[in-house]
Amino acid sequence: MAFPNAITGGCLCGSIRYSISASGESPWPPQSSACQCTMCRKWTSSLIAQFIIVLPAQLSPPFHTQETFEEYESSPGRYRGFCKRCGTSLVWRSTDDGSTVDVFLGTVDERWLVHEDEGKVGQALGRPNGTQFWMENAIPGVTDLMKGGKEFLREGEDGWERKKE
Ligand SMILES: [Zn+2]
Ligand SMILES: [Zn+2]
Repeated sequence: MAFPNAITGGCLCGSIRYSISASGESPWPPQSSACQCTMCRKWTSSLIAQFIIVLPAQLSPPFHTQETFEEYESSPGRYRGFCKRCGTSLVWRSTDDGSTVDVFLGTVDERWLVHEDEGKVGQALGRPNGTQFWMENAIPGVTDLMKGGKEFLREGEDGWERKKE
């Protein structure tokens, strides 16, 4: 498959648009992850929140330059960016590690998720190949069906902890 050099996305009302371009300094296609923590569930109103991990420099234009973009600090130093007109959940960042941001996959345009290259682009974006966060918060027989990825992590008191099998 020839993965495109850039993919596009935006919020539901269309006032926030973005393009994510390939970078030599970050995996391409981007690393795909999922989180089943209760905060991501509430924020996305979905049982599984999926996102791709990119460098801020890969995003154009930057989210913070867009008129309807707003951030909610859901934990100290953890910011969830959304469209204040339509409510779309777009991006997560942490001031602990400002090098990457998580762009929520449902905001990528349908063209890439469904149609391009007979769905192969959507498969490359959507199959978790990195970390799955909070798999122990899965609903048995429902949201644990999407496994994959390299590791299962959750955040403990002293930082990231691996899921105990
Ligand atoms: Zn919007
Ligand atoms: Zn989460």
